[in-house]
Amino acid sequence: MSETHHYIGFEEYSKHVPQSIPLAVQQATSRFVGGRAARVAELPQWEQLRQIGSDIRQHTIENMDVYLTQLEQKVTSAGGHVHWAETAEDAREIVLQIAKENKVKSVVKSKSMATEEIELNHALEAAGIESLETDLGEYIIQLARTGPSHIIVPAVHLKKEEIAALFSEKLNINAPTDPIELARIAREVLREKFLSAQMGISGGNFLIAETGTLVMVTNEGNGRMCTTMPDLHVAVVGIDKVIPDWESLTVFLKLLARSATGQKLSTYTQFITGPRREEGEFGPKEFHLVLLDNGRSKILRDPIGRDVLKCIRCGACANVCPVYKNVGGFAYGSFISGPIGAILTPQMNGTQAARELPYASTLCGACADVCPVKIPIPTILRHLRRRVAQGDEFSPPAMPVLIRTTAVFTSIALAWNWVYRFGAQLLPIINPFFRKNNWLSGMPYPLNRWTKVRPLPPFGARFRRWWNVRSAKEKDSQR
Ligand code: SF4
Repeated sequence: MSETHHYIGFEEYSKHVPQSIPLAVQQATSRFVGGRAARVAELPQWEQLRQIGSDIRQHTIENMDVYLTQLEQKVTSAGGHVHWAETAEDAREIVLQIAKENKVKSVVKSKSMATEEIELNHALEAAGIESLETDLGEYIIQLARTGPSHIIVPAVHLKKEEIAALFSEKLNINAPTDPIELARIAREVLREKFLSAQMGISGGNFLIAETGTLVMVTNEGNGRMCTTMPDLHVAVVGIDKVIPDWESLTVFLKLLARSATGQKLSTYTQFITGPRREEGEFGPKEFHLVLLDNGRSKILRDPIGRDVLKCIRCGACANVCPVYKNVGGFAYGSFISGPIGAILTPQMNGTQAARELPYASTLCGACADVCPVKIPIPTILRHLRRRVAQGDEFSPPAMPVLIRTTAVFTSIALAWNWVYRFGAQLLPIINPFFRKNNWLSGMPYPLNRWTKVRPLPPFGARFRRWWNVRSAKEKDSQR
């Protein structure tokens, strides 16, 4: 286990392990969708709860400075240390510095999207510190050297046979395909590490400003082991995770587990307020909270895009997304996938870096329908498409000039009836040049982006004629 675990990406990974991503993803997400529907049906006040959750998140992001200041005071007065990280690099340096000061050689980690975001494992390993993921799904993808492909089920793309093959190869054993046996094998490896690690690293689902409490919602006991067994606990949490008080938490606990896994409540809900107070108590001697900005303040400045910060990372939007279910999480090229990834990554990394993601959607709206905090995902996707095409105060347009020009002409054609009709008459002229067996293929750029993968029907100016004939027939049949 001392081997360094760099992310190698899906392409490299797929050379080693047989892939059946859409099938595995569809089976798992369908289970979650069914479970969510059953739990939601049990709560007649579900819609009111969603509205309250949405209102609390809205209020919090609008007053984030107030709540973060309160949080810092409370964590500090409980004996914890608060660090502010403006960038991912700052966050990595803070964690490495704490590790260096405490002569840390080995770290155990619980599941955390924030540490995926800053690629912390990579930095720890580069500094010669062994970092072991202890959530079963995270452990599997660490062995496989990939990132997560789902927010709450990181190894959702792998079937049990693939996991058994991975364990056999990496742990040099003959692993069975029984999931219970596989979990037992992982537990044996991990238990030893919990006992010897000097530092535990976690993320956090919520930060309660009222008392400075870190809330962790998990289904495996590893979170508790990571945050109580080593003498040092470092939590890396996005600033957007702050909530005002315990009363707000009761709303989010009802929303989160039901939306994520179809449970009434997750198996473990852990509350951490500072380090242990007295000798003999459970818990670490030192508690550090790294508050990660990494672009979140910039997102706050966009009045439409900032709703993304309301997210409570339940993954329900991915489970219902027809695009995610067919391409899987790696296609998003980011630590966070699915519809939430499509609206978060372009805002966090810039529309230049992730210009395709706002288009990775059919705009069917299923994501917004299930989102427990009512984030208007399709509205933000359309807003980001406009930002990608036209540029904004943060970055210039990210679309190639030709596509932008085509979009301008298309909008003129759609706005002026006679231009549209005239263009529709002209287009069929090009058909003979590209026609093959009643289809068009080999079209020039930008239409070749379509015809490279599938043929295009020939252009025609017959739609209005067809529509008129159809309407006339309908009228006849009604007489
Ligand atoms: S956007 Fe909504 S549905 Fe998607 S992960 Fe966030 S809270 Fe859950």
